[in-house]
Amino acid sequence: MNSDSTANELLDLLKESREYTTYFAELGVETIALSIGQVASEPSTASLATSSSEGSTQRPPSSRTQLSAPALRPPVATVTAPASPGSLFDELAPPQITFAQSNERLEDVWRDIGDCTRCGLCEGRTQVVNTYGNQNARLMFVGEAPGADEDAQGRPFVGRAGQLLTKMIEAIGMKREDVIIGNVNRCRPPGNRQPTLEEAAICRPFLFREIAAVQPDVIVVMGNTALRNLLEVREGITRVRGKFQDFRGIKVMPTFHPAYLLRDPSKKRETWEDLKRVRDYLDSLPPRTQEAGASLLSS
Ligand code: URA
Repeated sequence: MNSDSTANELLDLLKESREYTTYFAELGVETIALSIGQVASEPSTASLATSSSEGSTQRPPSSRTQLSAPALRPPVATVTAPASPGSLFDELAPPQITFAQSNERLEDVWRDIGDCTRCGLCEGRTQVVNTYGNQNARLMFVGEAPGADEDAQGRPFVGRAGQLLTKMIEAIGMKREDVIIGNVNRCRPPGNRQPTLEEAAICRPFLFREIAAVQPDVIVVMGNTALRNLLEVREGITRVRGKFQDFRGIKVMPTFHPAYLLRDPSKKRETWEDLKRVRDYLDSLPPRTQEAGASLLSS
């Protein structure tokens, strides 16, 4: 191996480890055990937050948009590298991730979000629109960002797209109260534009914490923004839809966004196929042992 290829390999490893740092920070990981119980380092969540923005290709948040340490306060997760490496570089192989159930409640996440000013979207919004629904839901829907109706009412998917979403949920034999619904971003972008990569990256960790708190069996990501913020995919929704994906051990079904279906109703048939797959998968699971049934709809 010549020195150029060694240097390239090291650069690749560095890049990969940065990506993992970002990933773990968003996951809320505080420690990484490298082998048989050895703790390599115990960075604070604040320092993980710093490496998170450094590892990203996006500009670090400005002082106004700085992520606070509580924003990345962790769901409980453990990460363990392979115990007996077979070669020099095996130690750097992606660790196995166990995404343990978070001991946070949604209210804890919302308290951290507060009257958020972490990105510029706060300037045009009326209010923060948090994830809303059944804390014990087996099924979660994730969209892009609030529109005008959501911004006015403070609940996700309450406008025309939301009414269609309600029909989609009912079409698979469920009620809105059974599920939980959220967005990648919680503040309405001006003119309903797509959130920028930076805006999405700032808000996304809160969604991840909510997912860890709820631990749904399936997440339906609706449209490209939700798809690309939960999954590392290059293809768009048209190519990926209908095929189950994985988000940290949770099944993810990508499908069209209801606002898109309002513009092109011919796509409803494919969305229906996607949702039937979700329903069949949920039906195949054993009933949950703990159905506390505490719905957030009254809060
Ligand atoms: N579109 C979204 O993506 N989310 C909403 O809450 C409403 C419309």
